[in-house]
Amino acid sequence: MANPFDLTDRVALVTGANTGLGQAIAVGLAQAGADIVAVGRSAPNETRAKVAAAGRKLTAIAADLGSTEPIDRIMADAGPIDILVNNAGIIRRADSAEFSEADWDAVMDTNLKVAFFLSQAVAKGWIAQGRGGKIIQVASMLSFQGGLRVPSYTASKSGLAGLTKALANEWAHLGINVNAIAPGYFVTNNTEALRADETRSRQILERIPAGRWGTPDDLAGVAVFLASRASDYMHGAVVAVDGGWLAR
Ligand code: NAP
Repeated sequence: MANPFDLTDRVALVTGANTGLGQAIAVGLAQAGADIVAVGRSAPNETRAKVAAAGRKLTAIAADLGSTEPIDRIMADAGPIDILVNNAGIIRRADSAEFSEADWDAVMDTNLKVAFFLSQAVAKGWIAQGRGGKIIQVASMLSFQGGLRVPSYTASKSGLAGLTKALANEWAHLGINVNAIAPGYFVTNNTEALRADETRSRQILERIPAGRWGTPDDLAGVAVFLASRASDYMHGAVVAVDGGWLAR
């Protein structure tokens, strides 16, 4: 039987693939056989080298995903794609009593609004061609929990979990799988401030049954699974990859 996780010659558009979780996801998909279209504001040079080492090609599209403005250009430049990974995301920290409108809007626009309209643009193309595809949203523990001092991040990631289910309901019968990965606490730029705070960092670690923070390559297997034929009957799932955090 053919390998159900094989992605040979599929094309995956991954946002924010230059670093962190997006890079690990792009490299994991490439190791399973996919070519990568990396969309983001920083050049994905390191990721390109890792994708090349896996024997696959990376095409870079420079775009600021803080607004929907570049989406038409991204779609035109990307060409046909089979997999969309909405990974690019930001976090802003401040007490909710003092939280600014600018920090609310920036996070909601990048993490939720652009993820929706990119999903829409990609799905529209698939629907017009009468074919299916795979959409993977990168959610968070704060798709399930409230968090501390990150109200717009929590709202955006809880919204993304809801959106995953909403889009699955509309598009599952068209052969479009929409699912989400909810990473626990991973060592990336996103968690730098958290890890620098000794007390918070210790409290977080104490609650992780696996006894360690996640490293980006811990996510690759789930991304390959959700991008491949192996997950064809999965729709609207928000899959936690959290070292057991939610089990506590
Ligand atoms: P990261 O290292 O900060 O990476 C974030 C990525 O998003 C970078 O590639 C960044 O590009 C890109 N990005 C942000 N704003 C952008 C914009 N306006 N236009 C284009 N690209 C933009 O953090 P990460 O941890 O890998 O985060 C990846 C995703 O995982 C995010 O959605 C995050 O919320 C989610 N997540 C992370 C954790 C964790 O523990 N690390 C946990 C749960 C969920 P630049 O490098 O150019 O800034």
